[in-house]
Amino acid sequence: MPQNILVVGELENGAPSTVTLELLGGAAALAAGGSVSVSLLGSGATAAAAQAAGASKAFVSDDANYDTFRGEQWLPAVQAAVEQSGATLVLMAQSTAGRELGPRLAHRLNTAVAMDCVKVEDAGGALQFTRPAYGGNAQATYTIATNPAIATVRPKSFDEATGAGASETAELPAAGASRVNVVGKEVTESEGLALTDAPIVVAGGRGLGAPEGFETLRELAAALGKDKAAVGASRAAVDLGWFPPSEQIGLTGKVVTPDLYIAIAISGASQHMAGASGSKTIVGVNRDKDANIFDFSKYGVVGDWKQVIPALIEELKK
Ligand SMILES: Cc1cc2nc3c(=O)[nH]c(=O)nc-3n(C[C@H](O)[C@H](O)[C@H](O)COP(=O)(O)OP(=O)(O)OC[C@H]3O[C@@H](n4cnc5c(N)ncnc54)[C@H](O)[C@@H]3O)c2cc1C
Repeated sequence: MPQNILVVGELENGAPSTVTLELLGGAAALAAGGSVSVSLLGSGATAAAAQAAGASKAFVSDDANYDTFRGEQWLPAVQAAVEQSGATLVLMAQSTAGRELGPRLAHRLNTAVAMDCVKVEDAGGALQFTRPAYGGNAQATYTIATNPAIATVRPKSFDEATGAGASETAELPAAGASRVNVVGKEVTESEGLALTDAPIVVAGGRGLGAPEGFETLRELAAALGKDKAAVGASRAAVDLGWFPPSEQIGLTGKVVTPDLYIAIAISGASQHMAGASGSKTIVGVNRDKDANIFDFSKYGVVGDWKQVIPALIEELKK
């Protein structure tokens, strides 16, 4: 069934973010003859419209007051874009902005939102939204009976759109007043690829035994390719001070959906898997053959990581 889809875009260094391009890719596949448009807010939005591949029209405002996300300011602009585009489906990222905007927009429009989706598909004319439930141990599928349907979608759920950007732009109102005052921003320093962008994630847990274990994991990531692999950690390892909290994976950390997830000395607790179970292929390395991680793993190695990982690095180097 044709859908008019609005992607609520986000800008990164003046260009549509990776997840915005992924949402545009998903929208192109779902539109089925309907339209795909994008909203872009903040400095450089008009110029970025030309890079919003797959969108025919962009709703933009270059007002710098939008640069820092404040739900109160973004909401009226996004609502205007929904109304002007005649959207039947609104897609946004499961990001800081999307997590707040999704429910607020649904309330404003008296409709429903499916949060944290990993799949949105056209199932015989009706849109179906799939999201992990029970800490990633099950998947729940929803349909939305009201219009427009709204969904927040995890990064890497769709392939990035390719091709030409928006050829037409329409101006959105400048930002209104906000009761929220952002007093500062702190950029977390992390080496190499961002966890959520990496096609391969190497994650370490308490079973590494000491913070030095993460040095070996960094070596493994480097052997897999500095432009491909990033290193993350379980909460137990983070709580022990072995790895930065910004790189924690799980329910209270980052959600990653790489092509390959290598879980090393991680038990596979449901709260950890909530952030990793969307990975395409999971490889578990654990000395306990009954560890929960093997229930999620396509491939498992039962053994001491101190033997397994250096041997793997050697092989990769060859
Ligand atoms: C509200 C809440 C939120 C939470 N959020 C998160 C979250 O976001 N992320 C998260 O990760 N956790 C989270 N947790 C914690 C979670 O429940 C687990 O406690 C945690 O994931 C365990 O981390 P771990 O697997 O590294 O450690 P452990 O459970 O201690 O597992 C260590 C594993 O290493 C294996 N091992 C030991 N030595 C070796 C060796 N030499 N070689 C190979 N394997 C070895 C052991 O067999 C074991 O399976 C949360 C908990 C709660 C209550």
